[in-house]
Amino acid sequence: MTDIRSADYTLMREMNVALILECLRRAAPLSRAKLANITGLNKTTVSSLVKELIGAGYVRETGLEPNEIGRPSIKLELNPQAGYILGAEIGVDFVAVILTNFAADVLWRRRESTVGLNDRAVILERAIALIREARSQAGEPSILGLGLGVPGLVDVASGTLLFAPNLRWSDVPLRQLLEAEFDFPVWVDNEATMAALGESYFGAARGADFVLYVSSGVGLGGGLVLNRRILPGAAGFAGEAGHMTVDPAGPRCNCGNRGCWETYVSQSAVFQRVRQAVAGGQRSWLEKATGGALNLLTVPLVVEAAQRGDAVARAALEETGRYLGIGLASLINLLNPQRVVLGGIMSLAHEFLWPSLQAEVRERALRWPRETAEIVIAAYGEDSCLMGGIATVYHHVLSQPRQPAGRPAPLRAAAPVG
Ligand SMILES: [Zn+2]
Repeated sequence: MTDIRSADYTLMREMNVALILECLRRAAPLSRAKLANITGLNKTTVSSLVKELIGAGYVRETGLEPNEIGRPSIKLELNPQAGYILGAEIGVDFVAVILTNFAADVLWRRRESTVGLNDRAVILERAIALIREARSQAGEPSILGLGLGVPGLVDVASGTLLFAPNLRWSDVPLRQLLEAEFDFPVWVDNEATMAALGESYFGAARGADFVLYVSSGVGLGGGLVLNRRILPGAAGFAGEAGHMTVDPAGPRCNCGNRGCWETYVSQSAVFQRVRQAVAGGQRSWLEKATGGALNLLTVPLVVEAAQRGDAVARAALEETGRYLGIGLASLINLLNPQRVVLGGIMSLAHEFLWPSLQAEVRERALRWPRETAEIVIAAYGEDSCLMGGIATVYHHVLSQPRQPAGRPAPLRAAAPVG
């Protein structure tokens, strides 16, 4: 029982700290009384947590504010200079890095294509060079940490990428590699899991208790967040929705299985639909736009075609929306999420995916879980994972605010309950 109570207490405290910081991030400057008001926490709890946060340098007092009874109260805000945070993503065809201050304001960002680079060492070199460049933009004080998202299964405790089917990488000790290069702690996780956390902290899933995030791009990833904490599953691999079988006789997936959901809803599925329509004799603006090289399609290009009224592009997106809806209906039945966030580069096409996606969900999901689930587009689009990297560092650093810039134990591996 003691373990359960202490785990509950730790979780509660973490959630309260996160709540206070989130309020300050969104609405500072705020007095302690206003913080208590907004968060619903009692004043003693707020005062004690604020004291801790000020002690650790994460929150600062900033001037006085008159209140109703005439006695001015001290206003609080996040201390943006408490440290810098890095978020990074190694995607299947790009690397990206952002730098924020402690208030999660983005100070610098860069995204580079890695199309045509097949050598793992070269891609890692590109990522390290970008992180180094971001780091050089930050002055003192130091970097609090780096959150790195990757498109595959990750052993979070060691920060090892176990298997990334679309990159064809396995067993890459990313945390070890990066910590040998840099002087700050590194956390690695699946890109969709990280993005789920990012959208929960800062984006379209803010305020929702139970969140399903689905990102569609080269592949399809999923992440689950309950009360602003990642739901990792037994060993950290929960959320691999892209590899649900939707057709046992379907096309071969990079994971080795056949008929995985992602083979129907990824960007390549859209491109394939366009190529098939053109091969079948339909005309498309995309032929002109690519000079006839339909192997050069990109999601923004297909979206532009659809916006121009191109029937082939519209039909390809509509069909993709249909398959997205089919999979989402099952996930909504299974999980009963409060909010479903659609992210990844395919979310750029949401206006064309939406009608068929919604129609399938309406048609297939059970009424009650369906009515609970609000389906929305990611606030950060392609940057959700990067913001998730920032949220990951926040999460680790803030869970132990007495140890600024230290290395708290990874939370989700800790405190087994029972
Ligand atoms: Zn698969």
